[in-house]
Amino acid sequence: MLKHPNNPLLQTPTRPLPRHVAIIGAGSIGPDIGYYLKSALPALQLTLIDIDQGAIDAALKRFADYAKKALAKGKMSEAQAAAVQQGVQGSTDYDALKDCDWVIEAATENLALKRRIFAQVEARVGLDAVITSNTSSLPASRIFAELKNPERATVTHFFAPAWRNPAVEVIDWPHAAPELVAWLRWVFCTTGKVPLLTSDAPCFMLDRIFDNWCNEAALLLDCATAAQIDTVAAEFVHAGPFFVLNLARGNPIITETNTLQADEEGEHYRPAPIFPSVDQWLTVAPGQRVDVSAETTRAVRDRLLGVLLSQSVDILDRGIGTPADLELGCCTALGFKRGPLTLLRDMPEAHAQRILKRLALERPGMPMPKRALADYLNFERHVLVDDVQGVKVITLRRPEALNALHDEMTDEILAVIRRFEDDPAVSGFVITGYGTRAFCAGADIGRFPDLLGDKAAAAQYARDCSRLLVHLDAMHKPVVAALNGMALGGGFELAMRCHALVAMEQAWMQLPEVSLGILPGIGAMVVPYRRWPQAAATFHAMLRRCDKLKAKQALALGVVDALASSPAELIATAVARVQALASGHARIQHGPVTLPAFDSMAPQSAHGLALSPTTLGLIERAVQEAAQAPSLSAALEIGYLAFGEAACTAAAREGIAAFGEKRAPDFVRVG
Ligand code: NAD
Repeated sequence: MLKHPNNPLLQTPTRPLPRHVAIIGAGSIGPDIGYYLKSALPALQLTLIDIDQGAIDAALKRFADYAKKALAKGKMSEAQAAAVQQGVQGSTDYDALKDCDWVIEAATENLALKRRIFAQVEARVGLDAVITSNTSSLPASRIFAELKNPERATVTHFFAPAWRNPAVEVIDWPHAAPELVAWLRWVFCTTGKVPLLTSDAPCFMLDRIFDNWCNEAALLLDCATAAQIDTVAAEFVHAGPFFVLNLARGNPIITETNTLQADEEGEHYRPAPIFPSVDQWLTVAPGQRVDVSAETTRAVRDRLLGVLLSQSVDILDRGIGTPADLELGCCTALGFKRGPLTLLRDMPEAHAQRILKRLALERPGMPMPKRALADYLNFERHVLVDDVQGVKVITLRRPEALNALHDEMTDEILAVIRRFEDDPAVSGFVITGYGTRAFCAGADIGRFPDLLGDKAAAAQYARDCSRLLVHLDAMHKPVVAALNGMALGGGFELAMRCHALVAMEQAWMQLPEVSLGILPGIGAMVVPYRRWPQAAATFHAMLRRCDKLKAKQALALGVVDALASSPAELIATAVARVQALASGHARIQHGPVTLPAFDSMAPQSAHGLALSPTTLGLIERAVQEAAQAPSLSAALEIGYLAFGEAACTAAAREGIAAFGEKRAPDFVRVG
């Protein structure tokens, strides 16, 4: 096992989830960190400490306001909204820290102040209490320099709004105990965050991008207005730098953090002198634009993009973070539409070289690539790969989409399998999902809307989407699906082509396609009946009514081989299954199979949605014809063709339109 596996849940934690957390600093971000923790762990005791009673009162009110909003939007039940506010207390007295097992400092960004705070904390908490700081920029080696027991301390850097922004940087600095870093990553991943392992450079990974992006924007004010710069930046980000600075009241923090970078790494990082003199920038809201001449657009675009590329290659050359984390963090934490390395990949190399050359001329000192640009692009973006006892564990990681499949992710899984399937040191593969909620929530809707009405193209799309699944069918080395959470649609179709399935006790499977006016065309109408004929009636109900299949029921039916009660146990079980199957695994039944008849039912899903009789008819016909097909490949072909037919129905148009418009589809109207 690696010192730190890429998937944080592969390690067994050395301590349980926290019981009593204290947050020091009840200003902008401290209470939001607390609210995230209380939402994820309702039984947690939470203490908010501040020197200012007014800040504590405002924080407690914020908790009540958030809970009220969540209740009104149906995101929390009354019981959850009450639980999130219970066990929360504020204090101006550090003695309230006494029996905390985790203290998170989120006080004003100032080295001397933070050191004083940590001395007070260490004097009060037990030796086994974890101590972390939410500093935006100050390296752990500096803020914890005076601690007696620095091995239990590190930086956990959240991003606003911390109650829902999934990214958290976890700093791996030389004095931090490996168990501490492993535990923090495990806690975050278990509670729905995406921990990004980062080294102890000033500003860590993502703020090096964000701060320099904002600073560059301010330095460009001699050639464009704030509104013009935000307009140009909208090509890359959901909200321009000045809009975000206004929102976060970020001017002082950029001055602070860029001064630190300038003092440590060179004058090119010096903050724009304008920051201290401006309170609010005159800019436009996201989605609005102002006129910008072509020449100004080019000057601003080149510099913003230049700084983005420069910072990205520097982060990778210095090993501050991994390329996949940099991409994911820029999109989830900072609101970039595409990660910087995706931008680099998708532009002609000569274009990138020109931009970097211009930056080197206009902003001497800014880091430049130390390798060929193509070298920075060679990594997996959507899967993590770990080695556990000679088994490659492939983790689907698209937390923003519940690990949904898309073409790039499918190709990455296939590429990893191809890379190792002839390696004698690798006995097989496990495929699992990132986090605890989802194995895989299906397939992105992707190109599908463009295929509506084109039978041949839609059938070909299903064939193309099956390239990984068909490869799995022919493999000699075993592949085991470890269902860490829900497996929906295409995600379940992937799992059912793995050679064995194991699942968390609370995992479940569902085929929701019929509720979208389409059908699962890449195996679900074929494979279950050949693989688990004893469960045929259950699959009839899954396909026709969107019935859920819970893990326990799947175990009883023989669809799943074993259940686990923790993520580490799940992976250990999956790895053991791979090893047990090393001498061979059963193939999916090749010849025809007999089916139980479909029961008569009202065209209605398990959750009460009126379904399309047309789609239901297509599903029933495809299931029956596929069962009689002479070979597995002929049966799969029937599924692809049925998918093509479904794409030409009014029900599919209605279902996909309703999905896009976030409304319930009206299949009664379209039939
Ligand atoms: P803030 O100024 O809004 O709040 C800081 C709070 O700390 C204030 O309520 C203040 O009274 C309190 N405080 C000051 N001295 C204290 C002491 N000795 N003991 C207890 N409380 C004390 O700052 P903020 O924006 O919430 O940022 C807090 C920390 O988090 C900073 O290190 C900042 O860099 C970091 N951070 C902030 C954000 C953000 O979006 N606001 C994002 C990432 C990191």
